[in-house]
Amino acid sequence: MAKGRVIIDTERCKGCELCRDACPPGVLALADELNSKGYYPVFLLDPEHDCTGCALCSTVCPDGCITVFRELSPKEMQSYAKAAA
Ligand code: SF4
Ligand code: SF4
Repeated sequence: MAKGRVIIDTERCKGCELCRDACPPGVLALADELNSKGYYPVFLLDPEHDCTGCALCSTVCPDGCITVFRELSPKEMQSYAKAAA
Protein backbone atom coordinates (compact mmCIF):
# COMPACT_ATOMS: atom_id res chain seq x y z
CA MET A 1 0.00 0.00 0.00
CA ALA A 2 1.29 3.44 -0.93
CA LYS A 3 2.28 5.76 1.89
CA GLY A 4 1.50 9.43 2.04
CA ARG A 5 1.58 12.48 4.24
CA VAL A 6 -0.35 15.71 4.16
CA ILE A 7 0.43 19.24 5.21
CA ILE A 8 -2.56 21.34 6.22
CA ASP A 9 -2.60 25.11 6.22
CA THR A 10 -4.37 25.32 9.57
CA GLU A 11 -4.69 29.10 9.45
CA ARG A 12 -6.79 28.89 6.27
CA CYS A 13 -8.80 25.84 7.33
CA LYS A 14 -12.45 26.56 8.19
CA GLY A 15 -13.07 23.24 9.90
CA CYS A 16 -15.84 22.21 7.48
CA GLU A 17 -14.71 18.56 7.80
CA LEU A 18 -15.29 17.70 4.14
CA CYS A 19 -11.78 16.27 4.08
CA ARG A 20 -12.49 14.13 7.12
CA ASP A 21 -15.56 12.65 5.45
CA ALA A 22 -13.56 11.91 2.30
CA CYS A 23 -10.54 10.28 3.96
CA PRO A 24 -10.77 6.47 3.60
CA PRO A 25 -8.51 5.55 6.56
CA GLY A 26 -9.91 8.35 8.74
CA VAL A 27 -6.61 9.91 9.69
CA LEU A 28 -7.78 13.53 9.84
CA ALA A 29 -8.92 14.95 13.15
CA LEU A 30 -10.27 18.27 14.40
CA ALA A 31 -7.98 20.28 16.63
CA ASP A 32 -9.26 21.32 20.02
CA GLU A 33 -7.85 24.82 19.68
CA LEU A 34 -9.15 27.58 17.44
CA ASN A 35 -7.05 29.11 14.71
CA SER A 36 -6.70 32.89 14.47
CA LYS A 37 -9.92 33.10 12.43
CA GLY A 38 -11.99 31.30 15.04
CA TYR A 39 -12.23 27.85 13.44
CA TYR A 40 -11.18 24.45 14.70
CA PRO A 41 -8.80 23.27 11.97
CA VAL A 42 -8.09 19.70 10.99
CA PHE A 43 -4.74 18.04 11.48
CA LEU A 44 -3.19 14.72 10.49
CA LEU A 45 -3.55 12.15 13.28
CA ASP A 46 -1.84 9.12 11.83
CA PRO A 47 0.32 7.23 14.33
CA GLU A 48 0.11 4.02 12.28
CA HIS A 49 1.04 5.77 9.01
CA ASP A 50 -2.20 4.77 7.32
CA CYS A 51 -2.36 7.78 4.99
CA THR A 52 -2.03 6.46 1.45
CA GLY A 53 -1.54 9.80 -0.27
CA CYS A 54 -4.77 9.25 -2.21
CA ALA A 55 -5.36 13.04 -2.27
CA LEU A 56 -9.12 12.77 -1.80
CA CYS A 57 -8.86 15.22 1.10
CA SER A 58 -7.05 17.75 -1.04
CA THR A 59 -9.52 17.28 -3.89
CA VAL A 60 -12.59 18.03 -1.79
CA CYS A 61 -11.16 20.92 0.25
CA PRO A 62 -12.90 24.04 -1.05
CA ASP A 63 -10.09 26.27 0.14
CA GLY A 64 -7.05 24.36 -1.11
CA CYS A 65 -5.64 23.96 2.39
CA ILE A 66 -4.14 20.50 1.96
CA THR A 67 -0.92 19.54 0.19
CA VAL A 68 -0.38 15.81 -0.31
CA PHE A 69 2.90 13.95 -0.60
CA ARG A 70 3.07 10.33 -1.65
CA GLU A 71 5.97 7.88 -1.76
CA LEU A 72 6.61 6.51 -5.21
CA SER A 73 6.75 2.77 -5.78
CA PRO A 74 9.98 1.43 -7.35
CA LYS A 75 8.10 1.06 -10.64
CA GLU A 76 6.88 4.66 -10.53
CA MET A 77 10.40 5.86 -9.72
CA GLN A 78 11.75 4.02 -12.77
CA SER A 79 9.09 5.64 -14.94
CA TYR A 80 9.97 9.11 -13.69
CA ALA A 81 13.67 8.45 -14.14
CA LYS A 82 13.08 7.34 -17.72
CA ALA A 83 10.92 10.36 -18.45
CA ALA A 84 13.54 12.71 -17.03
CA ALA A 85 16.41 11.14 -19.01
S1 SF4 B 1 -4.23 11.70 1.28
FE1 SF4 B 1 -5.97 10.23 1.41
S2 SF4 B 1 -5.45 8.94 3.16
FE2 SF4 B 1 -4.11 10.74 3.31
S3 SF4 B 1 -5.20 12.17 4.68
FE3 SF4 B 1 -5.82 12.66 2.55
S4 SF4 B 1 -7.69 11.46 2.15
FE4 SF4 B 1 -6.69 10.61 3.97
S1 SF4 C 1 -11.91 20.51 3.70
FE1 SF4 C 1 -10.34 22.13 3.86
S2 SF4 C 1 -11.35 23.80 4.98
FE2 SF4 C 1 -12.60 21.97 5.27
S3 SF4 C 1 -11.81 21.07 7.21
FE3 SF4 C 1 -10.67 20.11 5.53
S4 SF4 C 1 -8.79 21.33 5.30
FE4 SF4 C 1 -10.28 22.54 6.49
